[in-house]
Amino acid sequence: MNTYLERVLKKTKEKNANEPEFLQTVEEVLTSLEPLIDAHPEYEQAALLERLVEPERIIQFRVTWEDDNGNIQVNKGYRVQFNGALGPYKGGLRFDPSVNLSVLKFLGFEQIFKNSLTTLPIGGGKGGSDFDPLGKSDKEIMRFCQAFMSELYRHIGPSLDVPAGDIGVGGREIGYLYGQYRRLKNIYENGVLTGKDPVYGGSLGRPSATGYGALYYVQEVMKHEKDTVKGKTFAISGFGNVAWGTIKKIAQLGGKAITISGPNGYVYDPDGIITDEKIDYLLEMRASKDMDVKMYADKFGCEFFEGKKPWDQVKADIYMPCATQNEVHLEDAKAIVNSGAKYYFEVSNMPTTNEALAYLQEHGVIVGPAKAVNAGGVAVSALEMTQNAMRLAWSEEEVDARLKEIMQNIVRASYEAANANGFKDDLVKGANLAGFMKIADAMMKQGIF
Ligand code: GLU
Repeated sequence: MNTYLERVLKKTKEKNANEPEFLQTVEEVLTSLEPLIDAHPEYEQAALLERLVEPERIIQFRVTWEDDNGNIQVNKGYRVQFNGALGPYKGGLRFDPSVNLSVLKFLGFEQIFKNSLTTLPIGGGKGGSDFDPLGKSDKEIMRFCQAFMSELYRHIGPSLDVPAGDIGVGGREIGYLYGQYRRLKNIYENGVLTGKDPVYGGSLGRPSATGYGALYYVQEVMKHEKDTVKGKTFAISGFGNVAWGTIKKIAQLGGKAITISGPNGYVYDPDGIITDEKIDYLLEMRASKDMDVKMYADKFGCEFFEGKKPWDQVKADIYMPCATQNEVHLEDAKAIVNSGAKYYFEVSNMPTTNEALAYLQEHGVIVGPAKAVNAGGVAVSALEMTQNAMRLAWSEEEVDARLKEIMQNIVRASYEAANANGFKDDLVKGANLAGFMKIADAMMKQGIF
């Protein structure tokens, strides 16, 4: 391996030894960049990689709120402002008990490349809290969001850092967060957050953007393979907003999603989640206090497999994890290869361990990486920022047309970067290379700091 690359990887591992998720993504990304690092010795002189793996700023704070029983609760809050070379820091907020600095640094690092791939002017960031929304009342959610924003508001702004949603943060939470921001700053600055309801400046088509964008990506790859979505079966994990948009677009294109999952098991629906009633029910289930995927099995009379994941259980043409990180391990990858599936598209961030990803690719499965496949969400967020800055609202059709074009360009740019660097049609390496080129160029031009 390139000695500079090797040295930076080793040093990053030493310096962040207690951050496994972050190291996982750094290793995956940096090892893809070898041809570009070889070709640009000036990167080493400028310590470009050392700077790239170190967040520009991390804010950590205490969030104190009162629950419905009058007890005082304390959580950790974070914002990682990872890289601002291409635009204001941009990325979601995750509210989940698994949130820690390692998770947010991995998400923030991925976000830099993803945002660069959209070709829109946004840097990379991520934030969140170890707050658990499960079983919380609406008032508790509101009080938590207000407490969280009471510190965050001084670190963000439409030209500085623009958070959005992620796991545990949807339209409702964004509303409460924006209300508190406006109250504290005494200004109407709705470009500070994206994923808002359209009634106060949200973009039409934002809730479905990640899932629809993923399918536009899938369509473009399948076109390259002279193949089509129509008639194909899809194994999906998760049942939140991202899974919903993905499943809805699969149905529109004549495909059939046959599984969904939650933390406690998966549901197999051999008839497919294709009717409006079933697709709409996903949203209802998500909005319920229990957030339990078993509700779907009970309602539509299909089987729920407790404690199991769909990967090694269900045969499908295409596998699309839409839940969370590290949900597909080596043994799952083996099962997917054995099923004879030709395609595997990551929709949730880093759902695949590095060894599982390598196994899939070595065995001829076409892999679409999360930072490319799910970039439609943040792309439409960037369109929302533009609409807010211009004080206008584009129609849903207009947003969708732009989204489609952005996703098609990401696929093209990925193939191009892969093939130009000797990795034939490798969409994983291609996405890393294409994303990196712009960031590196911008960082070099902005001087050393
Ligand atoms: N959390 C989403 C992501 O992983 C969306 C971020 C955004 O819209 O800023 O890209």
